[in-house]
Amino acid sequence: MLLRPTRIVAHVTDINLQDLWDHGIRGFIFDLDNTIMAPRSCALEDDVASWLQKVEEMGFKAIVVSNNPIALYTEKAEKVLNMPVIGNAAKPRRKSLYRALEIIQLQPYEVAVVGDRPLTDIWGGQRLGAKTILVDPLTKHQEHSIVKVLRKLERLFIHPHNQEGVTSDPIQPE
Ligand SMILES: [Mg+2]
Repeated sequence: MLLRPTRIVAHVTDINLQDLWDHGIRGFIFDLDNTIMAPRSCALEDDVASWLQKVEEMGFKAIVVSNNPIALYTEKAEKVLNMPVIGNAAKPRRKSLYRALEIIQLQPYEVAVVGDRPLTDIWGGQRLGAKTILVDPLTKHQEHSIVKVLRKLERLFIHPHNQEGVTSDPIQPE
């Protein structure tokens, strides 16, 4: 079994929509956690929200198929995203992916399956006969900004003298 994502991008917003449209793609089946939302957050970042808006404006259909089994969570995500969310999907099994195709009324070859997990999202999409797009886990990018904040916080612990290049605890001569 070889996994060959059609495209590999760092972040969902890096997906070239015009290119996909020109290749006959008319819809997306998105993974949820770590693809369009940070895991368990149910929070949609502004950049992803405006990219999804563009997806809709260009005429693509969009749906989420998630392996997340918690119905309360996937129902909440549905409201936040304003698009259908199928939870407890058991990807790479195809049953939920076929259901998604029925809902968005598209054929496998008209769809790109987008996700961060090769063995669930990409394998499932490949078995479906769809184009597949592998993204880096969203948290990988968000960690960068968290690290930046932590670095700033860490600086608060540095003694002001040290920040000015003065050693506050000079080694005393014996
Ligand atoms: Mg995921």
